[in-house]
Amino acid sequence: MNQTPNIPFLDLVTPHVELEDELTAVFLKAIRTGGFIGGSMVADFENAFAVFCSTEHSIAVSSGTDALRFALMAAGVEPGDVVVTVPHTFIATTEAISQAGAIPEFVDVDARTYNMDVEKLKEYLEQQCTKDPDGKLISRRSGRPVSAIVPVHIYGQCADMDTILDLAAKHHLFVIEDACQAHGAEYFSRKLNSWRKAGSMGVAAAFSFYPGKNLGACGEGGAVTTNDAGVAARVKTLRDHGQAKKYYHDIEGYNGRLDAIQTGILHVKLAHLAKWNAQRRERSAVYGELLKEASPALVLPYEPSWSRGVFHLYVVQTDDRAGLMAHLAKENIGTGIHYPVPLHLQKAYQSLNYGPGSFPVTEALAERIVSLPMFPQLTEEQQGRVADSVFQFLGRVAVGQGR
Ligand SMILES: *Cc1c(COP(=O)(O)O)cnc(C)c1O
Repeated sequence: MNQTPNIPFLDLVTPHVELEDELTAVFLKAIRTGGFIGGSMVADFENAFAVFCSTEHSIAVSSGTDALRFALMAAGVEPGDVVVTVPHTFIATTEAISQAGAIPEFVDVDARTYNMDVEKLKEYLEQQCTKDPDGKLISRRSGRPVSAIVPVHIYGQCADMDTILDLAAKHHLFVIEDACQAHGAEYFSRKLNSWRKAGSMGVAAAFSFYPGKNLGACGEGGAVTTNDAGVAARVKTLRDHGQAKKYYHDIEGYNGRLDAIQTGILHVKLAHLAKWNAQRRERSAVYGELLKEASPALVLPYEPSWSRGVFHLYVVQTDDRAGLMAHLAKENIGTGIHYPVPLHLQKAYQSLNYGPGSFPVTEALAERIVSLPMFPQLTEEQQGRVADSVFQFLGRVAVGQGR
């Protein structure tokens, strides 16, 4: 029997045990006042999260998926529009697009950053679309008007937003950031000559507070951030049954609110987020040192000079992914795959008619990527064990191949 202590992929216990008194105080406040929906706990968290993201507004909603759907609708995406995104992301990105009534179309990701390839975006907009007599961009693929781009700041690293925003402005498209993995990530804008926060660059952005995210609720949650007062007002209406005033419904909306208890919990945890993100960056730097000799058999994360990522995940690539994962599992080390099947090859998207070969970078990544343990409380000793196990595995493979 293997007695080696377990190194989890993710630790959802320690941060909550450490904050137990403050977290239970939130629950006590709610049950003693009956304040479960709306009220000051929600508004106070929204204000604090807007400050954290350097935006004018933040609107708490029931999930990251709803945040993205509401952001798209509030920005002006209409049913039947095309929204351009990447196939290398969690399905919530495209679910939100479809649920807003739009059609997702994809461009491939960059082989080093894993984010939207801006050259491919340019090629899509300028070669795979035409202009109708009014100058509107029409997708040749679907014959539908293109109205928005959704870059996904994957694994906690921002997409190349200067280029995306320039292309969007040139073609009159909205940019909605999927910042669900990127709370606190920063992007250096060469155009503005300053660092910008994830969630503050597009017309609106979506965040998720799913427990495993860098800022997680004790349950489900999400938020939309925006600097546009009109977008903020529309998101507030959408999350609350289309009403601006109780029982006066301007439109048909959704039940998309976030509970007061969850916002209270998030507010407590938000105070620690900058420190936790800094710890994730330190953990990433330590992995970089420990694993550098494993390159090129192991491809480590790449951070361009214009990016300060928050390492929601620490993702490496290797030829024998299944072998590495099995070896780490035997050593009691947790791993994950984010994500094993590109969206364009999912059964759910058969009707979009993309096939294998449509997005070669994404397809190659899906076969090769593995996420190593990454969370703020990960210790250097644990990382040493992960690295030792990785080297053990790579050495064994080399021997097995008769080298
Ligand atoms: C988590 C996530 C979402 C969805 O968030 P939920 O809160 O789970 O609805 C959307 N996009 C990406 C990239 C995510 O990682």
